[in-house]
Amino acid sequence: MKILVVNAGSSSLKYQLIEMDNEEVICKGGVECIGIEGSKISHKVNGAEHVIEKPLTNHTDAFNLVMECLTNKEYGSISSPDEIKAIGHRVVHSGEAFTSSTYIDDEALKKLESIAHLAPLHNPASLACLKSCMSIMSCPNVCVFDTGFHSTMPPKAKLYAIPYEDYEATQIRKYGFHGTSHKFVSQEAIAYLKDKKLPYSNIITCHLGNGSSVTAVKDGKCIDTSMGMTPLDGLIMGTRCGCIDAAAVEMLAEYKNLSTKEMTQYLNKQCGFLGVSGVSSDFRKLCGAIDAGNERAKLAFDMFAYQIRKYLGSYSVAMGGLDCIVFTGGIGENGPTIREAICDDLQFMGIEIDKEYNADIPRNQLVDVSAKNSKVKILVIPTNEELVIARETKDVVNSL
Ligand code: ADP
Repeated sequence: MKILVVNAGSSSLKYQLIEMDNEEVICKGGVECIGIEGSKISHKVNGAEHVIEKPLTNHTDAFNLVMECLTNKEYGSISSPDEIKAIGHRVVHSGEAFTSSTYIDDEALKKLESIAHLAPLHNPASLACLKSCMSIMSCPNVCVFDTGFHSTMPPKAKLYAIPYEDYEATQIRKYGFHGTSHKFVSQEAIAYLKDKKLPYSNIITCHLGNGSSVTAVKDGKCIDTSMGMTPLDGLIMGTRCGCIDAAAVEMLAEYKNLSTKEMTQYLNKQCGFLGVSGVSSDFRKLCGAIDAGNERAKLAFDMFAYQIRKYLGSYSVAMGGLDCIVFTGGIGENGPTIREAICDDLQFMGIEIDKEYNADIPRNQLVDVSAKNSKVKILVIPTNEELVIARETKDVVNSL
């Protein structure tokens, strides 16, 4: 069974065609600059890359070009669009309209349209792509939400202390993001721990990339996560400020003379590693600046590690224990220094990292970096969000 996974941004469309019988990626690629100058597709198959530059006015044009590549006589992977049995769409926000991955019919499409304003930078692009697929293709379309894995959070964890009627009227509460990643790595961790006959009830997953979030996974289910109504909340990130006193936002807006919209942009794009260090939002560049003696880069690094450590403490208490910490994402998988800084001096919690081994681990596989005596397992697990989307799409389609 072949499933096409698509991830639409406002001017981009990434895709992977996956053979679900062996869960292997057949081909993948991305369309850039949809609706703007310089639009092109790069399609990767069997180690070769095919680039086509072509004006693309909208997501329908982009999707048609994807299908042209997939069915290309010379390097295509399928002979007919009918070979695709379903399309799985990554959608950022579910609001309260959806709690799990959903087959999209006309009614579900209307529901999805009604919540587009909750993620104005993301959901409208997914909708545009979804509508294109629904009109061009005859196979089922399934939406898989970034918020989905977090739908099991209890009210005490997900509600903000605003008047309850205002929450009911606006759906404003904590939703959490990176759900497909937290789900994938927690499931991988559980399988690994079960195999080793180790406890696996209480897991903290740290997805650390340009955007970062930490999730408490109890008995396989999310009970709390660090991002909020939007991905701005929680940790300091590449360009996002993370948690900040809401009253300080007004003060900053006055100081910078910014509107509320501009302020949201400022907090999302000019803060975080970039704002604190003045160097870069990119973690590798931050580490380079630290090596060169830049103190503000070091401060941003220290803030990041400190905040994650606090989540380890609070989520251990929330779950009543800790069996395993998982690191994933570009930084989590490739940043030994941050893993060491996060786990440093936490023997009192049973957390002990093997510093030497952690410094240079094999890539692209699950790696156990815990010291021999560590009560808590510390794992580095490469994430695979597309595979989660494909698996959920398959499950939804099979249940139709
Ligand atoms: P996104 O949230 O956009 O998916 P990624 O998960 O790809 O981001 O993570 C991007 C981050 O990972 C960047 O800050 C980058 O510097 C960092 N990163 C990538 N490779 C390394 C590396 N080898 N060492 C340290 N950081 C890395």
